[in-house]
Amino acid sequence: MADEADIANDYIDSEVTRALGKIRQTHDGKPGTKICVECREQIPLARRNLGFKLCVMCAEETERRKSLYANY
Ligand SMILES: [Zn+2]
Repeated sequence: MADEADIANDYIDSEVTRALGKIRQTHDGKPGTKICVECREQIPLARRNLGFKLCVMCAEETERRKSLYANY
């Protein structure tokens, strides 16, 4: 039981590390913008520090469009 939980935690840890590594790679450690480049909403500092230039809404929209195009 405990072993299974440990394995799950290890898995989550490695997934998170992988995801963060991907973000750093994509954004090259540069800070994001203070406001969303799409809708000019303010971007939270935590999100900005990850190098985002889009608010959550616009980022989701972009992701959705990307996955739609990926089907063609
Ligand atoms: Zn936006």
